[in-house]
Amino acid sequence: MKKRIALLAVAFMACSIISYGWGFFGHKVVHQLAIYGLPKQIQGFFYQNQDYLVQHSVRPDERRSNDPAEAPRHFIDVDVYGEDAVYTMPQSWEAAAQKYPIDTLKKYGIVPWHVMVMKERLTNAFRQQNADSILFYAADLGHYIADAHVPLHTTLNYDGQLTNQHGLHSLWESKVPEMHAQTYRLQNKKAEYLPDTETAIWEVVRASHKLFPDVLALELEATKSFTPETKYVTVERNGRTRKYYSDDFAKKYAELLGPTVALRMQNSAEVVSNFWYTCWVDGGKPDMDKLMGGKISKDKKKALKEEKKSWQKNTLFQENRVLALKKKANS
Ligand SMILES: [Zn+2]
Repeated sequence: MKKRIALLAVAFMACSIISYGWGFFGHKVVHQLAIYGLPKQIQGFFYQNQDYLVQHSVRPDERRSNDPAEAPRHFIDVDVYGEDAVYTMPQSWEAAAQKYPIDTLKKYGIVPWHVMVMKERLTNAFRQQNADSILFYAADLGHYIADAHVPLHTTLNYDGQLTNQHGLHSLWESKVPEMHAQTYRLQNKKAEYLPDTETAIWEVVRASHKLFPDVLALELEATKSFTPETKYVTVERNGRTRKYYSDDFAKKYAELLGPTVALRMQNSAEVVSNFWYTCWVDGGKPDMDKLMGGKISKDKKKALKEEKKSWQKNTLFQENRVLALKKKANS
């Protein structure tokens, strides 16, 4: 039994290491919340496909292992271009590509521009009233938007590796939320139309980057209360010894971060909702009930109502309604 638990712990840590942006848990929670923020005209369709959107919220990360073009879509190391580059970088791909070689842009990440590509594709899918494409691009678009909310996705020092804080990436976006999400207030606002989606996604990148110095500084602050032995746990894997942040350290770090991680998660859900809704409007507001072949069933409608009640009361975790924690969504 003990051995089994140890194995599970190793598997869990391995998952955290290979996740790129919110970890699987965070992405699933963001998509579930984003659906609750949608207006009635499209909420039925998105709720009907809730399992798909939650499950496939992580598909872009899964794709990274067999598609070499995938990796740069999840981040932008914006500080590579200068200290204030997050404010001065050209927002449009065309303007950025005039200023910098395309190879350089691709090397250091393209998340805001890829969000714009996905936004166009989702808008077209609505325009063509193609339900499969709508779901496919909604899931992918949501993933990249959520990734842009993670401070460590906006810097060359993405894992704390340049400041001797290795492992910071999965600590911030996976371990901390997985340990503490049940205490978060996750009440994203209702979706709003975005008249300027390009600026909206750059605002997300700028806000993430602004948080980055604290992500590093608070790790150093937390370190003051630990010894190297209590700060890390050491795991032997495939003949190699690896160090991971300990649970106690993650707890202390989370305490110092305060509501930051919860707020980034909540903002992610808001912006995902806003983009989904905006694409529907720009795609000519197709009748989503018709696309589904009728309104959602009475049972589904009732279930949605109950979930939204928990969401409004912030009791989704207490009432065991978080899909990321249910077996099916985790498989
Ligand atoms: Zn990602």
